[in-house]
Amino acid sequence: MSAMKEEHVHALIARLESMKDEARELLRGDEPPGDEPARDPDERAEAQRLEEIAEGRRETTHDALSAIEHSLERIRTGLYGRCARCGCAIPPARLFALPTTTHCTVCQAILEAG
Ligand SMILES: [Zn+2]
Repeated sequence: MSAMKEEHVHALIARLESMKDEARELLRGDEPPGDEPARDPDERAEAQRLEEIAEGRRETTHDALSAIEHSLERIRTGLYGRCARCGCAIPPARLFALPTTTHCTVCQAILEAG
């Protein structure tokens, strides 16, 4: 079973589920504006710029959604709360701050240092 206290697991599942809803809501509300052709080149350039920003945001949200799904899967399989690199128990405070994290602070620092 998971190394975590059951009440922590429940709280984190609730947290992840609400993050998932938020991400889905963002993706839904962020559809391309449809067929409203801009009239002049400036407007077109601006529309394209906004679309590029929206596209970047969609990608980020998509990645976040995958990370959330991955975390929920890890909770189901009992792997959640364990560092994927060293296998230590990730402190609950870190999990509450960053529910989708898969590494302890030590390994995260090592990975980020390359
Ligand atoms: Zn670790």
